Amino acid sequence: MGPVQQTRFEAAADLLERSVGYDLRTMTVELPDAHTRWRCGHCGNLTRFDVVRARTASEYWHFTIGGEPEIEEAEVTNEDLQQVSCRWCGASDRIEIVPRHGLEESPNEVGGP
Ligand SMILES: [Zn+2]
Repeated sequence: MGPVQQTRFEAAADLLERSVGYDLRTMTVELPDAHTRWRCGHCGNLTRFDVVRARTASEYWHFTIGGEPEIEEAEVTNEDLQQVSCRWCGASDRIEIVPRHGLEESPNEVGGP
């Protein structure tokens, strides 16, 4: 049943993409955490991505007498991941979250052959 739902979603996304002119599937990409990473579903790239992020920051600007500004404190109050695209093939519609295990860590949890 899982693959059927995914196919329906893909079809719906294609339809919306054509009518709206915007790829809705890119909006589902999330930042990887300590146990996950991105993977390009088209070419298998795991290491190189172009990332577009929108940040809102709260800053403390301290001006010298001469008028030269220096930002002494900055805090990111909101961060929005807008788009992730593959550096190799340029695709942004199939960037998926996959677990990190089995690549550079010991295969203890994976189970041998
Ligand atoms: Zn790719």
